[in-house]
Amino acid sequence: MKLKCVIFDMDGTVVDVTYDWGQIRAELDTQGKSILFYLNSLEEPDKSKKWKVLERYERQATEKARLKPGMGRFLDLLNKKGIKKALVTNNSQKNVSFLLEKFNLEFDCVIARESGLWKPSGAPFQAVLKELGLKKEECCVVGDSHFDVRAAEEAGIPNVFILNEDKERFASMPAEVFSSAEALQKRIENLLEKEK
Ligand SMILES: [Mg+2]
Repeated sequence: MKLKCVIFDMDGTVVDVTYDWGQIRAELDTQGKSILFYLNSLEEPDKSKKWKVLERYERQATEKARLKPGMGRFLDLLNKKGIKKALVTNNSQKNVSFLLEKFNLEFDCVIARESGLWKPSGAPFQAVLKELGLKKEECCVVGDSHFDVRAAEEAGIPNVFILNEDKERFASMPAEVFSSAEALQKRIENLLEKEK
């Protein structure tokens, strides 16, 4: 099956950002739950108050975000090969728009958290397949975290590529791990070569 679309995660994948999730979880007191699900389970006024805390951290991190080294070239390659690009993030549409404009990036489909479809559920990836009219086997997921792997697994997308320097963290997961965008690009180029 030909590769027709790469579904990207945003934070830590397309852009390098610094989040101290341990500190954020502690400040929100998420009790071991995933942050978004925890926040949504709260009652007012706690709910709004804690959402604001998360949004403050996200805004600060987004303002300091940098395009991941080699990512611009990788995205250009996909453009040249006619491969579609989708962006799926648990971050807000506002922060997505800020980063796309700042780094002059374009995606064929963007799913942000206002969709209500959040990783690690496979639902946002399924929404991409539906919107672009693609089969699972025609897509691959590029992310940086366990959430990306779990969401791809749930959506049934077989090819998962992770950009992360800590390969050990993904040792038991169905994903290939790369330490740089350049290394990932080589892998994709190989994959495209084999399609010929
Ligand atoms: Mg990420």
